[in-house]
Amino acid sequence: MKPLAEKIWFNGELKAWEDAKIHVLTHGLHYGTSVFEGVRAYDTPKGPAVFRLAEHTQRLFDSARIYHMPIPFTPEQINEACKETLRVNGLKSAYLRPIAFLGECGLGVTPKPENVKVDVAIAAFPWGAYLGEDGLTKGVDVIVSSWQRLAPNTVPPAAKAGGNYLSSYLIGREARSRGYEEGLGLGTDGRLSEGAGENLFLIMKGKIHTPPVSSSILGGITRDTVLTLARDAGIEVIEQALPREMLYLADEVFMTGTAAEITPIRSIDDIPTRVGGPGEVTKLMQQRFHGLFNGETEDTYGWLDYVN
Ligand code: PMP
Repeated sequence: MKPLAEKIWFNGELKAWEDAKIHVLTHGLHYGTSVFEGVRAYDTPKGPAVFRLAEHTQRLFDSARIYHMPIPFTPEQINEACKETLRVNGLKSAYLRPIAFLGECGLGVTPKPENVKVDVAIAAFPWGAYLGEDGLTKGVDVIVSSWQRLAPNTVPPAAKAGGNYLSSYLIGREARSRGYEEGLGLGTDGRLSEGAGENLFLIMKGKIHTPPVSSSILGGITRDTVLTLARDAGIEVIEQALPREMLYLADEVFMTGTAAEITPIRSIDDIPTRVGGPGEVTKLMQQRFHGLFNGETEDTYGWLDYVN
């Protein structure tokens, strides 16, 4: 892979991009035993800032907790390392990828606790709109995948773990191979869950509906941001299990994620949403969200963590 930045933080050291390597017998590679984050930094009028860094780092440690994975750094050290990685690479806006994984622990699926070795890396590099610039403005066409999301009490959906992304890979690949931009997964109960790498929102009669955390979703930080911004804009938000057919009846539908930001959906399974693209509520949410980074929305929440 061509270097996208100069340095990668690896176990406390800044290494050249090409030298940040691991062994082929790394446990995480064989068994998906990694936990990670996707974080964005934005170039704001007050200087580069990481968006909700503390919450992302908390989720990284929570994911690691579920998997009995002791991260050999404190959350404060990880926060500082994220900012240091941005600074050494001279990045003002970037996507950050902190990851912790079981390293060389032998090839037994469950290494003895004394053999557990957790490696931690942080990469940062420029990354534009995940589903394309056009996607943000015009909306994307999606399908409901034939693959369902992770069933409760199997592989925990609330942990952002490497292995979970086998599900995302199948859902995303099915959609793209059929010419759609993204795939949505249903839960094993047939109700709406989430996109391959995004949370899902439906707007009906001016109210925002989204599946609850019990619907096999990752509790997205962008999801929480949108729920907060919507409530503050006086829009009612309802976290409730939703049947599939609501997708075809909603006025507007959008997806959220750190990479995808707020991406409108214009059709689902070839059925256009009632407004057929980004509607009023979606546009308002996009405006409030991006306003946090261009200074139009006041950050009364303390979500911007300035890099310098
Ligand atoms: N669901 C899944 C499966 C994801 O991979 C992501 C992206 N991290 C999200 C939801 C959205 O989460 P966030 O807003 O925290 O990026």
